[in-house]
Amino acid sequence: MGYEVTQLPVWRDNYAYLLLGEGVAAVVDAPEAAPVLAILEQRGQPLTHIFNTHHHFDHIGSNEELLARYPEAAVYGSVYDAEHERIPGLTRSLSDGESFAFAGVSCTVRDVPGHTLGHIAYVFADGRAFVGDTSFVGGCGRLFEGTAKQMDHALNEVLAGLGDDVLLYCAHEYTESNLRFALSVDGGNERLVAYADEARALREEGRPTVPSTVGLEKAINPFFRADAPALRAASGLPPGAARHEVLGALRSMKDSF
Ligand code: ZN
Ligand code: FE
Repeated sequence: MGYEVTQLPVWRDNYAYLLLGEGVAAVVDAPEAAPVLAILEQRGQPLTHIFNTHHHFDHIGSNEELLARYPEAAVYGSVYDAEHERIPGLTRSLSDGESFAFAGVSCTVRDVPGHTLGHIAYVFADGRAFVGDTSFVGGCGRLFEGTAKQMDHALNEVLAGLGDDVLLYCAHEYTESNLRFALSVDGGNERLVAYADEARALREEGRPTVPSTVGLEKAINPFFRADAPALRAASGLPPGAARHEVLGALRSMKDSF
């Protein structure tokens, strides 16, 4: 049992993921259908599931075209996005903590609002988490609908609590721009400086920096390090500020960086 992950660079800087198991095939967040359809045809496997993390077009943009080809496919998303009718073709709405099996592997859904209010992460028992636009390598999603407090909970309680070895599959290759910002606020972090070299080398070879791990993000990502003295200082907030206030200040700084 289990599934194999194919990482598809799509659109400008998105990653969609195709999960292929025995008799099941799922796509996580694809903006465009063609690259997904090409692999399914080549492998001779029909699409059985679409797992959406949130409603933004670069995540759900392929749903209708995929469903036109594979009308039987089940479409998963959050209860919030179901209530707001913003996931095309949704067949199953999921609450925080709810589990289902895919390819014999248990997957637990976690609410991770912040970027949007209906954002969820798919956390598989094999050590992979599909996190959409919640965390990126060295960064986090913009706060479009949620608050800094919600994003702080998503990153520093939900994702940080998964365990250091868990692989984080995010939906964009934003690493280089994130690391430029990270170095500007946390330049004394040796692990970050060393990782920035590694990431640059990967990108020069045209290779992805994604997936990352929870342990790496805790070491290099300013939004997972909002409690560290260097980041507190960089935020410009008084010493007694709450962690989520530091995170919010850093996120605003990144918005205009
Ligand atoms: Zn988004
Ligand atoms: Fe996105």
